[in-house]
Amino acid sequence: MRIWPLSYIKGLSNMTIAERQKAFQKKLEDLGHVLKLEDDGRVDIFVCDCDYHNGPGCIKCDESWCHHCGHISNERCKGE
Ligand SMILES: [Zn+2]
Ligand SMILES: [Zn+2]
Repeated sequence: MRIWPLSYIKGLSNMTIAERQKAFQKKLEDLGHVLKLEDDGRVDIFVCDCDYHNGPGCIKCDESWCHHCGHISNERCKGE
């Protein structure tokens, strides 16, 4: 099982990968980002897509993040 370095989110060690992914997305939404969705309504997790890095992206500010690395700045979304 891959361990993601998302230690800034409390209680992560008890979470499944799906729950961690959800916590990562919630953190982004809390910062005002609006995540790009797939046609079926699920979050598109290949907006950021480079080698083994992949993760969601924001349709307002065009930023994207790798949910494996788990690095998110605490700045709020700058998009309109
Ligand atoms: Zn944004
Ligand atoms: Zn990465």
